Amino acid sequence: MVEGPGEVYICSNCVELCQNIFRQERKRVSGVSASLSEIPTPREIVEFMAQYVIGQELAKRSLAVAVHNHYKRLLHSESEQSGDIELDKSNILLIGPTGSGKTLLAKTMARMLKVPFAIGDATTLTEAGYVGEDVENLLLKLLQAADFDVEAAQRGIIYIDELDKVGKSSGNVSITRDVSGEGVQQSLLKMLEGTIANVPPQGGRKHPEQQYIQFDTTNILFIVGGTFVGLDEIVRRRLGQTKIGFGADSGDDKQRKHFIDDKAEREWLQSQIAAQDVVEYGLIPELVGRLPVITPLMPLANDALIQILTEPKNALIRQYQHLFSLESATLTFTADALELLAQRAAKRDTGARALRAVLEEVMMDHMYDLPDQSNEGVEYMITAAAIENKTQLIDLRVAQANTA
Ligand code: ADP
Repeated sequence: MVEGPGEVYICSNCVELCQNIFRQERKRVSGVSASLSEIPTPREIVEFMAQYVIGQELAKRSLAVAVHNHYKRLLHSESEQSGDIELDKSNILLIGPTGSGKTLLAKTMARMLKVPFAIGDATTLTEAGYVGEDVENLLLKLLQAADFDVEAAQRGIIYIDELDKVGKSSGNVSITRDVSGEGVQQSLLKMLEGTIANVPPQGGRKHPEQQYIQFDTTNILFIVGGTFVGLDEIVRRRLGQTKIGFGADSGDDKQRKHFIDDKAEREWLQSQIAAQDVVEYGLIPELVGRLPVITPLMPLANDALIQILTEPKNALIRQYQHLFSLESATLTFTADALELLAQRAAKRDTGARALRAVLEEVMMDHMYDLPDQSNEGVEYMITAAAIENKTQLIDLRVAQANTA
């Protein structure tokens, strides 16, 4: 309680609530949330994403189209030229291995569109009433990202990871929630369909006296992701059945015979994923029906991992080079060093996610030693041999041509 002059008190919850009201009011006046007037074209979106995301061209394109249409639909309905045609919302399902860029794609998309963005994990979500994070908390995260501008948050993007883990067949045995995961799917379905949710401004249900924020999920773009291990077998089975049904000479069959290796076949199977496969995997058909865009992401090969190390705007190698430049030194990696880093990361089976840890292991001692050196104009070069031998920073110096 904060005491005012005389017998006046205000509690911390009310202080916060008032602040939120003021903040929203200020935003409305300054027109911050009017940023939707310019929607980038799919091509522009893909070009922007190429600065941050390596490969995954198919995913970039289909995301770009879906997102462009989504925001066009919003503008369209706002400008009231909608007539009789109502454009359906295209929520997106990204299917691909860990560390292949699902979260990165969603995040980059939100950054490009300058809309609020929140990330959740389906495995931590619970049906209302069970112990755990409920779906409303995700909306709260989005609200927080929008600085409690409800209007802006209602047009934001939510990324929900690990959807495959709440499938019926994933055998989850948590005792704190329904075993089938179907309840979680139902809650998600409600959000995807569009509902007015009551979001507690503090999160959780500990403060029943708080005023709930009414939050309409109709215009939120949901991007959901999952690894769906074993889904390719379901696709293979389905296509196998098709083969029997339509004769062995179908186009699909011809394509299958030409695979040079398992990897090529797996990639092809991934590209054939259809809604019915995801249903067979254990998602309820209603939920899959709300995810009309299904997009596969491919595992990242070594050369893609090398590109990820060096090419994106905020690539890890660039970040270290920047740190060295702050000490007036330059840092270079030879091609064989990059190759070795990529190989080490690939062994961990977590896609590009492992790159950071692998690189940090190599750089940690060097970053420790760097400030102790006289670095002015010095070039340090990291080779594969230097990584293997754990060579000290001082021995990585490149001899300078003009040394007397
Ligand atoms: P996922 O959600 O598929 O498990 P993430 O998007 O979280 O994977 O990827 C983890 C990290 O790996 C990202 O933050 C990014 O640094 C890097 N990364 C993954 N895929 C790519 C990619 N295609 N291009 C660039 N960086 C990537």
